[in-house]
Amino acid sequence: MLPKIFIPTTNGGVYLQKVRCGKKNCKCASGEKHEAYYYFYRVDGKLMKQYIWKADLNEVVEEIDFVTEFRHRIRYKTKVMKDQVKEIKAEKKAKKEAGIKEEPIDWNMLSRMIEKILKK
Ligand SMILES: [Zn+2]
Repeated sequence: MLPKIFIPTTNGGVYLQKVRCGKKNCKCASGEKHEAYYYFYRVDGKLMKQYIWKADLNEVVEEIDFVTEFRHRIRYKTKVMKDQVKEIKAEKKAKKEAGIKEEPIDWNMLSRMIEKILKK
C-alpha cells in the first residue's frame, strides 16, 4: 500500500485522489473508487493535472524533492548575494560620509566572490 502523500512544491504538489476509471463492469462503477496519484501544478496561473503511474511514483517524488531543494538553494544564494551587495553599498556610503576617497571597484575580485558563493 502506497502512503498518502502531499508534497508541496512552489507551484504544485502530488495528491492522492479517489477516481472512477470509467469502465462499466469495474467495481468502481457502483462502489469503491480507485486511488490514483496526480501531480498538480500551475503554468501561468492555470492549474494542470498529470496522472502518475504507481510504478513512477517514487521517481516523480524524488524529482519534485530535487527541484524544490534546488529552488530553495537558488533563493538562499540570491539572498546571500543581495546581502553582500547591501553591505558593499553601506560601506561605500560610510566611506563617503567619512570623507575617505573611494578605491575603484575590483570587478575580478567581485566575480570571484560570486563564483565562490555559487559553488557552495
Ligand atoms: Zn474502475
